Amino acid sequence: MIIKARLEPLKIILLRSLNARMHLSNKDVSNYTILKKGFEGELKSDVWLEGLSEGWLIIHDLLLEYNNSTFQIDTLLISQDKIYPLDVKNFEGDYYVEGDKWYTSVKKDVKNPVHQLDRCVILLRALLRDLGYYYPLEPYLIFINPEFHLYLTSINPSLVFHSQTNRFLKKLNAMPVNLNKKHHKLAEQLVALHKVESPYPHLPDYHYEGLEKGILCPKCYSFFSDIHGSTLMCRHCGCTEGVESAVLRSVTELTLLFHDRKVTTKVICEWCKIVKSEKTIRRILGKYYKLNRNGRSSYYSQS
Ligand SMILES: [Zn+2]
Repeated sequence: MIIKARLEPLKIILLRSLNARMHLSNKDVSNYTILKKGFEGELKSDVWLEGLSEGWLIIHDLLLEYNNSTFQIDTLLISQDKIYPLDVKNFEGDYYVEGDKWYTSVKKDVKNPVHQLDRCVILLRALLRDLGYYYPLEPYLIFINPEFHLYLTSINPSLVFHSQTNRFLKKLNAMPVNLNKKHHKLAEQLVALHKVESPYPHLPDYHYEGLEKGILCPKCYSFFSDIHGSTLMCRHCGCTEGVESAVLRSVTELTLLFHDRKVTTKVICEWCKIVKSEKTIRRILGKYYKLNRNGRSSYYSQS
């Protein structure tokens, strides 16, 4: 039973839009790529966990705080007697461990994920104790990518590699899951403690004037280049979309990027660019948004 689902992080949505509309520094592009890859791994892991028998409580994507330290849990599984925090890694390629350090095959050191998980478990245990729960924690690092290999000198039972994921699931499915009210209460409490962090302070600087205008293809995120009647076509991937849904997506994108900008026919015409007819834009906005009449400064809002 999924208590909290995983949503695409707002930071990825915003960086994707900025990446298409302006020049991002190498650092920002790399940050965006890492986030995207991590999220793809988490989604794959969610699909894999659909094989878990009914009765388990599943909480995806928790950001918690204990003693002013925040920690993230990709997935938390609650069974009858134990709690399993899972950290999902989408690493690809060859990695090796030397002492306490993890390296990629090109000798680049990466944050030791075992240390990250240890830290998370210490904080989670303390938080649970404060809430009055004493279930044992059994943490795992899930390496979901089949193209990942780790050269290890010793066996660490908390690491689960792609080739072991089915067996691991079988092991979990053999656990008792007669959950009671207390388990459900714990799940609810943790979800209520989930913190939402604003991505805005961590985005590159951007300004409306500096962004390229147009409607982005929902599949490949290049700009729609052709319009035939009320259908937009992407030359890059062949995707097509109705003007109405494309304009509505673009309005959402604009308001996510610029909270303060008033949605007007003129602004949306400029933002969407490829849809030349003001009449069409006005009709779409009028259909889905509320018009706040104020002479020349009339604008549309959600309600
Ligand atoms: Zn496309």
